[in-house]
Amino acid sequence: MDLVEFQGKQLFGRNGVPVPPVGAICRTVDEVVAGAEAAFADGASAVVVKAQVKTGGRGKAGGVKLASSVEEAREHGGSILGLDIKGHTVNVVYVEPASDIAEEYYLSVMHDRVSKGHLVICSKEGGVDIEEVNRTNPDAVVKRTLSPHETVAGLSRDTAMEIVTQANLPAEVLDGAADLLVALFNAYRDEDATLAEINPLIRRPDDSVIALDSKVTLDGNAAFRHDGYAEWQIPGIDADDPLEAEAKEKGIQYVKLDGQVGVLGNGAGLVMATLDVVAQNGGRAANFLDVGGGASADAMAESLGLVLKDPSVKSVFINIFGGITRGEEVANGIIEATRRLGDFPQKLVVRLDGTNAEEGRRLLEEAGHASVVAAATMQDAAAKAVELAAQA
Ligand code: GDP
Ligand code: MN
Repeated sequence: MDLVEFQGKQLFGRNGVPVPPVGAICRTVDEVVAGAEAAFADGASAVVVKAQVKTGGRGKAGGVKLASSVEEAREHGGSILGLDIKGHTVNVVYVEPASDIAEEYYLSVMHDRVSKGHLVICSKEGGVDIEEVNRTNPDAVVKRTLSPHETVAGLSRDTAMEIVTQANLPAEVLDGAADLLVALFNAYRDEDATLAEINPLIRRPDDSVIALDSKVTLDGNAAFRHDGYAEWQIPGIDADDPLEAEAKEKGIQYVKLDGQVGVLGNGAGLVMATLDVVAQNGGRAANFLDVGGGASADAMAESLGLVLKDPSVKSVFINIFGGITRGEEVANGIIEATRRLGDFPQKLVVRLDGTNAEEGRRLLEEAGHASVVAAATMQDAAAKAVELAAQA
């Protein structure tokens, strides 16, 4: 689950990561005005009005603006509320007392699938796209992987100091940055985050360092340890992915991925193997969807409907192994689903095996739906689905 900036800063703040003074969460221009008035009354010389959407690059898109008066804040509130940033409508803005910036750095902690540990990234070049810095000036980006063993008791102050020193942060900020990194690591671990990113980490004129921005992703599998992350669900901020939210509501195991081949199978293991065989055939899966053991007509129709709603899906690979679920039930599910869904442009490649598979294949053939392509093996099905996606 992704947090928006002000939530990430709340999470940082309660874990000892220094952040700017608390601002106001606003849904209307009047609330922006009230938030700015309060900040100026409190002694702020400027405020910053920031779009709260789950995407980066808000500044470039006109979603982050400084105001040195209440009037200016009102104007910015008017222009940012309702703005569309990369497909996310701004319903909430955060009005924060502005910080004075001497320098901008980059700092993050994330899960590293390769080392199966934690990855800390630190750079003197912050406030910009870190991947771009990594491409053009890799020496300016320090990457340090840490094993779970060496971080059982948290990140040591010495290791934190090594990292910020290696990143060439100036001597004046090293102590503050090392303390901040230790706190950031603890926040990441204790809150079950998979990513805690600060871009920019700023040096203020007094050489203190604070997190000016935040990007935090919490581990969905740990939600049960945190009341389902209920504290972070607020009106006006959309779910991570609308289809994932819909799937969750319907009790469908669905994860959005970024390829073109929609994938639907029964059983998590089979679905994972399906993702692999799609990749081996030069394609990329658009999603992970486990219709579950039942694979009933209802579940099939709901699941297929969901996958087809994703505009990036160019073909669908339905991979079912009949165990308790019999082949004819699966086939009827697919037939019923295609009937309910009406016209759709994508072809469905179906590989059906296991209990009563022949009966299922016969039913599919009889139904003779123009969009259904039968395949004998998993490999054939993957090759066909990838080919059809490429043609579409
Ligand atoms: P992003 O564009 O979505 O990454 O949003 P950020 O929160 O990182 O803001 C973008 C940029 O706006 C930052 O890199 C800063 O340069 C600038 N900015 C944001 N907040 C402040 C602030 O309080 N004071 C000043 N002077 N600049 C700010
Ligand atoms: Mn940023």
